[in-house]
Parts: sequence; C-alpha cells; structure tokens
Amino acid sequence: MSKQTGGISQHEQLMTAGESEGAIKPTRFSRGIHGPPQSHYWFMQIDCPHKTWYNMGMRMTYKYRLFPASAQRTMLEHTLEQCRLVYNRTLAMRKSAWEQGQKPVSRYDTIKMLPVWKEELTELKYVHSQVLQEVCTRVDLAFRHFFRRVKAGEKPGYPRFKGKGWYKSFTYPQSGFKLLDNGRLRLSKIGDVRIKLHRPIEGEIKTLTVKRDMFGNWYACFSVEVEPQPLEPSPDVVGIDVGLSDFATLSTGEKVANPRFFRKEETALAKAQRRLSKCEKGTVEFRKYKRVVQHIHQRIANKRRDFSHKLSRKLVDTYQFIALEDLNIQDMQDGNYRSMNKSIGDAAWHQLVQHISYKAEKAGRTVVLVDPRNTTKECSDCHAIVPKKLSNRVHSCPFCGCVLDRDLNAALNILARGLASMGANP
Ligand SMILES: [Zn+2]
Repeated sequence: MSKQTGGISQHEQLMTAGESEGAIKPTRFSRGIHGPPQSHYWFMQIDCPHKTWYNMGMRMTYKYRLFPASAQRTMLEHTLEQCRLVYNRTLAMRKSAWEQGQKPVSRYDTIKMLPVWKEELTELKYVHSQVLQEVCTRVDLAFRHFFRRVKAGEKPGYPRFKGKGWYKSFTYPQSGFKLLDNGRLRLSKIGDVRIKLHRPIEGEIKTLTVKRDMFGNWYACFSVEVEPQPLEPSPDVVGIDVGLSDFATLSTGEKVANPRFFRKEETALAKAQRRLSKCEKGTVEFRKYKRVVQHIHQRIANKRRDFSHKLSRKLVDTYQFIALEDLNIQDMQDGNYRSMNKSIGDAAWHQLVQHISYKAEKAGRTVVLVDPRNTTKECSDCHAIVPKKLSNRVHSCPFCGCVLDRDLNAALNILARGLASMGANP
C-alpha cells in the first residue's frame, strides 16, 4: 500500500524550508520519474526549469522467502481466504450505500463492523485483528483511487470483488509479528514460520506484508523506513552509456561487460517457450512446460537483481555525481536504440537506474537523467554532429580530429549534459 499522500504532507515543511539547509541534498532527477518504485518513495514535485523531483522520506521493502510447515501453510491460505471474504463484504457494504445514495461509509464504519461479522463468521477469529482492519484500509484506498479518477473526469472501473485465488497478500500494519533469533518469523495466529534472511534488514520496520506468488511460494515483505546515510563526499563524477556490445560504458573509459547469464538465460527461455508452444493447452505437458518457463523468468529476475545491486553499489560508492540516459525518451533517429533481442538487458538497465537512484539518495549523491538524443552522434570535443552507423565502433570527428571509442564518446556527452543541467560547466 502506498503511503504517498501522508508522506508528502509530512514533509511539506521540510520542502519549503529550501535546500539552503545544507544538510543532506536530496537526489535530483532531471526528468520525470521512471526511477525509484513509487510505492517505496514519497515524492514532491517542485516547479522549476528541469522539472526536478525530490525524494523525501524513504521507504524500502525487504523481501524474504518463507518456508512454512504444512500446518502453517494451511493457516496462511486460510488467512488469505478470510481476508478475501472481509474484503468482499466491506466492498459490498460501501457499494450498496453508494448506489442507494445513503451516507457514505467510511473506513472507520467498516472497521466497526468487524466484531459483528466475527460473531457470524467464526473462522475470522483465527485471523489477527489488525490484519482484518488493514483489509478495510485496502478497500478504502480502492475507493479513494476510484473517486479521484472520477473527479479527474476519467472513467475508472468500479472497485471489484475478489474471486477465489485473486487475493494474494495480507498485511500486519503495526504489530502481530516478530523476527526471532532462531531463523523464524513469529506471525500471530499462524506460528513461527521459517524465514531465509539472506541479507540483514536495515532501518525501522513499519509493516509486514505476507505474500503468495503464482507457484504457491510464500514471502515476507518488510516495509522499512530508512534514514539517509551520507557517504564521505567524492570528487568524482561519471556519465554512463548503455551499450550494445557491452552492458555499459563509463565516461572514465571503464566498460561493464554484459553478464554471461544474459545470453545463457535467453537461450534457455527461447527453448522452453518453443517446447511450450508445441504442447496442447490444458494438457499435463502444457502445465509442466508453463511452469518451466515461469521458473526461468524467476531465475532471470533473481540474477538480474543481484547484478544490479552489486553494480549500483559500486557506482554510488565511487561517484558523487552520476549522469544516466533517460530511456523514457527513445533515441529512434539515432539508430542507437537497442533493437536486438535485449529484453533481459533492457530490464536490467531500468532496474539499475532504480537501484542507483535509491542508493544515491541514501548516500547523499546526485543522479541526473539526461535526454539521450544524439549522444552517439555528437562529438564530445567540438559538439559537431557526426553521423555514424551502428557498425561504426569508433567516433572519428572530421571537424576537430577527435578519435574515441563510440560508447566512450556517448558517455562523455551524457556526463556533460548532466553537469550542464545542474548549471555546472563540464
Ligand atoms: Zn569534434
């Protein structure tokens, strides 16, 4: 659940106080936001020439796999099902009030109904009370979203009832859970569930959401409030170009090679998909290969996340200022966009931008997204436009005689544009 609105008002004061405070400078983005995931951040838009977004309070989510025993699994499933029933009841109550033109039903009104429903639906007593209250909050958010869109003149879909299997998570908003020392997570009304804490949680835990994925695996997602932890300032700046033959090229001349798993997993995926397409829908074989395809997708996501975390950590530790291409603007005329089968690489790049952005914010570093148009053609020395084909691996300027690696030239342009947008001379 997004806490955006609350976050903004909470931080409004901080914003108007301006940046002359000098303490920790928020990360800047020169354009829009395809950076950090919205649900993890609170944003505040300021009208300024560069459409700067400021990230304020930071929410992060730590996700861990749960290994419930079979009785616990039953309880988890049961909890989801009870939450679904409460969701639908809450929705029905608000819907009928709205349709009959009665006094609007608030979140509080629906929460007050829970004890009444508990007498009727005895199974509800096996679910933590705050978890059920949070279901009412979800319905409330769905309605708020609906009314906001109606107000904006859109035609939104009315909040929907959840069919069986369509309710996939429940949340402990404050209490009812505890991390134990023995590798288990205590969940009220469910038990001590084994958890794999593959990395430590940093920050203050606010809420816990328990999720089931499409394979029936369970996860614990802790929403954590993080204090910025500024690093020692670094004098170094960098521009980064997304490459074709390499994953990225830095303006320092350093290259980041495409991880080997890109190609390997792409091949594995293509093979599994070919097999799947040969199976008839609904057969045992079809289901089997569908599962294989899903597993490969999941494996790719894990490897990609790991790669991105490591690379972004290294970059943010090293550089005070990082300029990246804004891939929301496609560089079509340049013939430089990644037309090859680079689905894994593209997704990896977007994830890297996200990871760099939130790590930079935490560390007091600056990130700028720049317009990528003509970054390849422009000469980084004399700024003349030098057309080149995709196969031209070297930038050779007929105007000033500058000869550079094609991607390094682009990275230098990206850095220059980033610095220029900050009002600095490259
Ligand atoms: Zn030149």
